[in-house]
Amino acid sequence: MIPFLDLHAPHVELRDEIDTAIARVVSSGWYILGPEVEAFETEYAAYCGTPHCVGVGNGLDALHLTLRAMDVGVGDEVIVPSNTYIATWLAVSQCGALPVPVEPDTTTHNIDPARIEAAITPRTKVILPVHLYGHPADLDPILAIARRRGLRVLEDGAQAHGARYRGQRLGGHGDAVAWSFYPGKNLGALGDGGAVTTRDATLAERLRMLRNYGSREKYVNEVQGYNSRLDPIQAAVLRVKLAHLDSWNARRRAIAARYLSDLADTPLILPQVPDWAEPAWHLFVVRHARRDELQRALTVAGVGSLIHYPIPPFRQAAYRQTRLAFDACPIADTLAGEVLSLPMGPHLSAEQVTQVAATVRQFA
Ligand SMILES: *Cc1c(COP(=O)(O)O)cnc(C)c1O
Repeated sequence: MIPFLDLHAPHVELRDEIDTAIARVVSSGWYILGPEVEAFETEYAAYCGTPHCVGVGNGLDALHLTLRAMDVGVGDEVIVPSNTYIATWLAVSQCGALPVPVEPDTTTHNIDPARIEAAITPRTKVILPVHLYGHPADLDPILAIARRRGLRVLEDGAQAHGARYRGQRLGGHGDAVAWSFYPGKNLGALGDGGAVTTRDATLAERLRMLRNYGSREKYVNEVQGYNSRLDPIQAAVLRVKLAHLDSWNARRRAIAARYLSDLADTPLILPQVPDWAEPAWHLFVVRHARRDELQRALTVAGVGSLIHYPIPPFRQAAYRQTRLAFDACPIADTLAGEVLSLPMGPHLSAEQVTQVAATVRQFA
C-alpha cells in the first residue's frame, strides 16, 4: 500500500527536535503570541526575503484578515481563480465582497493573466492569484495590470512554500502573500496555523491588530478585530521544520523529475513548468480523460491518489445562493473532471515512485 501522503514520517525523522521545541514552550509560560511566535515570524520573513511576517490561526484567516486590512468590504469585488480550493473564495465572501472568477491557463492550471482585465469593474479592489499545486502563478503581468488599474495583489501561497518566481522566492512580489501551515502543506504544523508575509509595514501593523481583537495595547481596541493568532507550540514546531523545508522540497523535485520521465510517453497530460518557475511541487497533478477509471486502477493496486479539486467553488452548494457575476467557467469544469494527484511528499521512496509510475503506465 502506497499512501497519497505520509503525515507521520516527517515527525519520526524529527521526533527529538520537535519534542525539545514543544517542551521549551510548555516550560516557558508563554502560551499566546510571545517570543516563539516572534522568532518564527522573523525566520520565515528571512526565508521569504520579505521584511514582515505576521502569524495567524490558519490559512483562511491569513487571506481573510489581509483582505480586511486592505479595506475590502461589502460591494467590493476580488478577482479569484475559477479553479482553486474554496478557502480562496470564502475569504472574499467573509468580507461581504464578491469573488469574481477568472479561468486558468490550461498548461499551468494557474490564473490566466490575459483574462484578468476583462473581469475588472469599478468595484474591483484586489487580484488574488493562487500558486496552485505549488506552481508559481505568472506574477509579472498580474502586477502590471494591478499597477495600471490601481488594484492590490494578495497571493494565496498556501501550497507554495519555497517556490520561486523568476529566481526569487515567493513572499514579497505582490502586496502580501497568505500562507497556510495545515499539516499536509509543504511547511506543515501539528495542527492549524497560518501567516502573512509583506513588504508593507502599515499592512503588517494592521494585521497584528486584526489578529488580536483589534488591539495594539492590552484592553485598548482600535478596530473590531478577530482572535486568530499563531499558536506558540505550532510556531516552535514550524521553526524546526522550516530548517528542513529546502531539503524536503528538493526531494519533491526529484520525485517530480522521475514521474515526468517515467510517464513521458503516455497519453497522460503531465505538469508543465515554464522557464521562469521553480515549483514547490506540493502536488503532482496529471490529467486524463478517463480519470475516474485511472483512479480506480490505482486504488485496486494499493496506490493512494486524490482529486484537487472535484467540485469548483462556484458549483458548491455553499455558493448556490450567491449571484455570481459570470456565465460559466468551462475550463474549471473540464479540469475538475480530469485532474488526478499522484502520491507526492518528501518521504516517498524511490521504489514507491517506480511502483506508482509502473501502475499508471499499465493503465495508460
Ligand atoms: C490549504 C489551503 C488554504 C487554507 O488553509 P487552511 O490553513 O486550511 O485554512 C487556502 N488556499 C489554498 C489554495 C489551500 O490549499
